[in-house]
Amino acid sequence: LDPTGENFSSEELDIERALRPLEFDDFAGQDQVLDNLKVFVEAANQRGEALDHTLFHGPPGLGKTTLAHILANELGVGIKVTSGPVLDKPGDLAGLLTNLDERDVLFIDEIHRLSAVVEEYLYSAMEDYRIDIMIETGPNARSVQINLNPFTLIGATTRSGLLTAPMRARFGISSRLEYYTTELLSDIVQRSAHILKVPISMEAAIEIAGRSRGTPRIANALLRRVRDFAQIKGNGKIDIEIAKYSLKALNVDAHGLDEMDNKILTTIIDKFKGGPVGITTLATAVSESAETIEEVYEPFLIQQGFIQRTPRGREVTEAAYKHLGRVRGGIQGG
Ligand code: ADP
Repeated sequence: LDPTGENFSSEELDIERALRPLEFDDFAGQDQVLDNLKVFVEAANQRGEALDHTLFHGPPGLGKTTLAHILANELGVGIKVTSGPVLDKPGDLAGLLTNLDERDVLFIDEIHRLSAVVEEYLYSAMEDYRIDIMIETGPNARSVQINLNPFTLIGATTRSGLLTAPMRARFGISSRLEYYTTELLSDIVQRSAHILKVPISMEAAIEIAGRSRGTPRIANALLRRVRDFAQIKGNGKIDIEIAKYSLKALNVDAHGLDEMDNKILTTIIDKFKGGPVGITTLATAVSESAETIEEVYEPFLIQQGFIQRTPRGREVTEAAYKHLGRVRGGIQGG
């Protein structure tokens, strides 16, 4: 199960799009973020102005892209979508910006991965709705200033700490998305099941939700796999039995921790006596990048109380030992 969705097939991406809420009212949870956004959108709509530039940060799969689309929809404007790593030439950015209609949204995913040149370029676009572009080359090269339509830049990042300070300062609105409760995820699972036209019991929805790592993308992915089991091994309906059977077959653990989550915990216990261990040492030991551990895995393990950050590094907690059926200090004798 891939919380980032980076390895999704095109069919999986199509389903993900079909399950994506289009309006504020379909979006579950993140109440405080949503309440504020509703006010800002209504105010911008009343004034006929572009919404302030907006930054969403938080772990993958929690709804940043979804919210960008919802904002465009609620503003009644168009949206252009790109991402930091894709947008590597200033010319590409200029092309996108000059094609924006008044009040349109430009969504840049993984905005912390923009190159320094492109980022520099964005500053004046965001601040003054203006860009300088170079025309011609060689001795005739000169820069021309182009005025842009007022627009809203929506940026998404897994960690706002990775953004440069000048970039961060240019966002008028900045919201952090949190992991979802089981209750909210079970609402999302039921809504998705309805869209996929598969009957599901409340109990089964809660079971799937509880094992989804607090993440709607994972909840939806699990639902689709369980739907396959229900169709082939059951009667097409998702009840608690088929849900439990499928989750077991899929190797999803009771807390929804995935393989890497568990590997991180067992490595800290077995190789580093429970910690503390520095992030780079840990990363090498589990063969994953320190960045991914910090952005994707660690936030959930901390939120669930399995890991704590100390000045000397990461430490596992008593709950982690319990979860893995281990005893602190080694195998219990007698
Ligand atoms: P991110 O951009 O943060 O990685 P996405 O916005 O792509 O996450 O969300 C991943 C999937 O989870 C989408 O298919 C969307 O349908 C679903 N999703 C995310 N947040 C919610 C929510 N609050 N309510 C319902 N579905 C959601």
